[in-house]
Amino acid sequence: MSASQTSSHVPSEPSESSDIPTLLVKIFGKDRPGITAGLFDTLAAYSVDVVDIEQVVTRGRMVLCALVTAPPRGLDGDLRATVHSWAESMKMQAEIISGLGDNRPRGLGRSLVTVLGHPLTAEATAAIAARITRSGGNIDRIFRLAKYPVTAVEFAVSGVETEPLRTALVTDAAVLGVDVAVVAAGLHRRAQRLVVMDVDSTLIQDEVIELFAAHAGCEEEVAEVTAAAMRGELDFEQSLHARVALLGGLDASVVDKVRSEVRLTPGARTLIRTLKRLGFQVGVVSGGFTQVTDDLKERLGLDFAQANTLEIVDGKLTGRVTGEIVDRAGKARLLRRFAAEAGVPLSQTVAIGDGANDLDMLNAAGLGVAFNAKPVVREAAHTAVNVPFLDTVLYLLGVTREEVEAADAHEEV
Ligand SMILES: [Mg+2]
Repeated sequence: MSASQTSSHVPSEPSESSDIPTLLVKIFGKDRPGITAGLFDTLAAYSVDVVDIEQVVTRGRMVLCALVTAPPRGLDGDLRATVHSWAESMKMQAEIISGLGDNRPRGLGRSLVTVLGHPLTAEATAAIAARITRSGGNIDRIFRLAKYPVTAVEFAVSGVETEPLRTALVTDAAVLGVDVAVVAAGLHRRAQRLVVMDVDSTLIQDEVIELFAAHAGCEEEVAEVTAAAMRGELDFEQSLHARVALLGGLDASVVDKVRSEVRLTPGARTLIRTLKRLGFQVGVVSGGFTQVTDDLKERLGLDFAQANTLEIVDGKLTGRVTGEIVDRAGKARLLRRFAAEAGVPLSQTVAIGDGANDLDMLNAAGLGVAFNAKPVVREAAHTAVNVPFLDTVLYLLGVTREEVEAADAHEEV
């Protein structure tokens, strides 16, 4: 028996149905209960089968597209007349187009392009869509993920590989003033299970060492060294020691003061709460200090936290750190360690950070997100978010604002 004979017995092979006559029935008009049931009730009289259905509602107007098998010979005209007459009675518009088969098979290479705008302009949307087309991609589907605090839409694109599409779109995004994330479509996206975040200027709005420095009266000196380190101009470990030394002699009671001064980034709680509900594990790695990250871990219910530790002797900061130094390489190492402990492959991790010392971690993760990052980081990361809301990262994972709010509302009941 030949291979082709064998496969002809597989009942679910779609190739057989690819050139059967089909009817595309499009209904457009004011959305109200009963339209979908009414259309299919009307079609049911002709014993047709459903091949595909898509329905969208935008500001109260619905477009319902039903692709059905053509009715038995001779009944086509009758079906058309009945559907039009039903549509008219419902004050809807109907269009019926005869054809063959289903959608054309989608091209190889499937990607999801998430566009975040604040606002999302028609000009930027046109430019993104044109770039997708010029890259050889076809837009199969467009879907709104969120209208608040940003407008977020997702384009499902086929026919072009993810990497070249990302390169092309990320370059455009910076010019257009929108954020664009391009990820490969597929099961792995639903399986991302560990998110690791930087702390200073990512999870929180502050640089913790600057909060300590304010109490030590050496704010300006420390801020200068921090900025140079984050621009990648200074070795992180040297700059860490130099800055911590400036804190020597400070009373240990400032630790509590600094903890109370830390301001979470808008959307931080929503992001973490939603990720936990989705079954993600969430961790932080910081070039800052365990004196603050341990507190954040406790307050936010994080699974992992690691940072440098300020040495305290006789109730005073010594101006030294103890233990393993968390620097640029250390952050990537900790991402791997957390992933191993969580039982999650690196390809299913998401890392978020803003500084040069986050780059190794962002590149090691399955998805690296530069969050309001310095240009050097933004250019090297998979994707960049430049709006100041941390929960917008959820949209990059395909979670909609409605889902977030519905989950919150459910919890409150
Ligand atoms: Mg940072």
